[in-house]
Amino acid sequence: MINFADLNYLDVKKKFSKIFIDLDRKKLSMRTNQIWKFYYQKGYFKPSLFSNLPSEIIKAIENKINFTRLKIKKKQLSKDGTIKWLLELKDKNLVETVYIPSESHGTLCISSQVGCTLNCKFCHTGTQPLVKNLSSNEIINQIMVAKDELNEWFEQKKINNIVYMGMGEPLYNFENVKKSVQILKDTNGLNFSNKRITISTSGISPNIKKAANEIGTYLALSLHAPNNNIRNSLMPINKKFNIKNIIEDCNHYTKENKNKIFIEYVLLKNINDSAKCAKQLSNIMSKFPCKLNLIQFNPWPGVKYTPSTYEQTLKFIEIVQKNGHIVTLRKSRGDDILGACGQLKTASERAKRFSSFLKN
Ligand code: SF4
Repeated sequence: MINFADLNYLDVKKKFSKIFIDLDRKKLSMRTNQIWKFYYQKGYFKPSLFSNLPSEIIKAIENKINFTRLKIKKKQLSKDGTIKWLLELKDKNLVETVYIPSESHGTLCISSQVGCTLNCKFCHTGTQPLVKNLSSNEIINQIMVAKDELNEWFEQKKINNIVYMGMGEPLYNFENVKKSVQILKDTNGLNFSNKRITISTSGISPNIKKAANEIGTYLALSLHAPNNNIRNSLMPINKKFNIKNIIEDCNHYTKENKNKIFIEYVLLKNINDSAKCAKQLSNIMSKFPCKLNLIQFNPWPGVKYTPSTYEQTLKFIEIVQKNGHIVTLRKSRGDDILGACGQLKTASERAKRFSSFLKN
């Protein structure tokens, strides 16, 4: 049975037209709107809660559409207020979702795949081979569960930004991510504007162009290196889509989208944090509108990299700023629960084979 969150608004309308063949177009629209709002604005997770609906309509929906949420397997609360949920999918795979509150806003970091194919050397998720792409409902339901848990339906909004920076490469799960963004952006639904959604990519060239035309949210580029040599050693995907390709794509994206791209760069001691690296990075940044989001490296068990020193980080920032670029240093959040950037990894690998930076 299909899950409601696998359908965007038009899909729901189409589905209902097949379920309620007796309804005229006006009533069909009315019922679609009602149910859409019950689910996405009030958080009702089963048709029996849909008040004011005739019982035959409720029964018909119950028989054709599944409204269930993902199951919470584990919840961890960091001392800094970050919350990490381990969520179980219907097929028993596990994904992680992280809520990062700050004084002014809250950011929810969601996953788009179980595991990842890209094997970035500094990333904990990258050590877990790809198990599957998440469906639209498995993506949207991470948000629904977080909203339930934060009691957001009847209280003040606590999730202001959604970032696709959890497990996986979103642009390798293009169609499902696109559908989930359509649901997120629906003004009668979850109602997040383009500027409240960020999709992070490690540079999947053809899909960056596609995303510019078909998705249109903020884009974050996980660059992490200032030249192809270093990037090849940190991110094997660079051998397929190199920095020159990415610069062209980012140029295209900003022309279509008009917003600056966030460059993500994790500072690794003696790997990519030298003054020379800062200059090379500044040169790349002058090729398209962007701003730099420096990330403190969060070590995880078994990793060979260490974080840059405080002094080196400051030097790096100074050089990039002197070259005229905006730099933000992202504070590490939730690292005590392995919920920080690059630390997400679920237990599904053990079962089988054994990214808050947005500012208002
Ligand atoms: S950084 Fe992103 S793309 Fe790279 S391995 Fe980790 S999850 Fe995959």
